[in-house]
Amino acid sequence: MSKIYAITNQKGGVGKTTTCVNLAASLVATKKKVLLVDLDPQGNATMGSGIDKNELEESIYDVLLGESKLLDVIQYSESGGYDVLPANGDLTAAEVRLLSIDNKEQRLKIALKPVTGRYDYVLIDCPPSLNMLTVNALTACQGVIIPMQCEYYALEGLSALVETINQITEVLNPELVIEGILRTMHDPRNSLTVDVSAQLTEYFGEKLYRTCIPRNVRLAEAPSFGQPVLAYDNQSKGAIAYLALAGEMLRRNEAHQKQAVPQAQ
Ligand code: ADP
Ligand code: MG
Repeated sequence: MSKIYAITNQKGGVGKTTTCVNLAASLVATKKKVLLVDLDPQGNATMGSGIDKNELEESIYDVLLGESKLLDVIQYSESGGYDVLPANGDLTAAEVRLLSIDNKEQRLKIALKPVTGRYDYVLIDCPPSLNMLTVNALTACQGVIIPMQCEYYALEGLSALVETINQITEVLNPELVIEGILRTMHDPRNSLTVDVSAQLTEYFGEKLYRTCIPRNVRLAEAPSFGQPVLAYDNQSKGAIAYLALAGEMLRRNEAHQKQAVPQAQ
């Protein structure tokens, strides 16, 4: 079965999309099969994977509303080596239309069911708000990855996100956990970064990934070429950091599996 992770933070510009695209490509580099689900009407993950959001005949919008089959909508990203369930501005309308249909929180979960055996990892790029689309992501996934910029206001809003996650766990998705907290655009020379890092360690302990993603111009340039940074510049600090993150994630998952399987006596 696939591991399904939602990349979530209701703040914009913290590196959700960058993480989704580059973690997907890095997992592919370790021979994993990956589906990237673009759940943001901005369609940045779609474009950053080399798929033109303006040319889509069908998108995740049609899938959520039950008007298209998932397999008819999924496209392959040549630059990333993973599959994409693409999005564009149409998705803005889904927010409203979802409110009036059955199982409105479960639409993505139901839609993903037929393909969960095909992929090792499904990564969902969430919009920058705690809306019905994000609720769908949190209901469909097993774990949440929260990218954070270590800035003064970084921790503000985190309690609202944790609260939302707790509510979803109680009502809709009991298996949901925070999978990891990821420091993005990291600058260890900045003393504020060090302070915020210390607070994150105190609050989240082992959930905080050891890997930090540095601020790296190659990461910011790659999307305009429709490429993950691994395709754009595989020697860049950004590429190396996201490969390290994929490695850390895989090691964590292996460790969990070992814990789950009791040793033979
Ligand atoms: P979100 O999806 O949370 O809104 P993005 O991933 O789109 O955030 O990132 C916001 C902006 O910052 C984008 O222009 C992106 O290219 C840039 N960016 C993201 N991560 C980095 C990084 N580590 N170094 C430099 N620029 C980055
Ligand atoms: Mg984004």
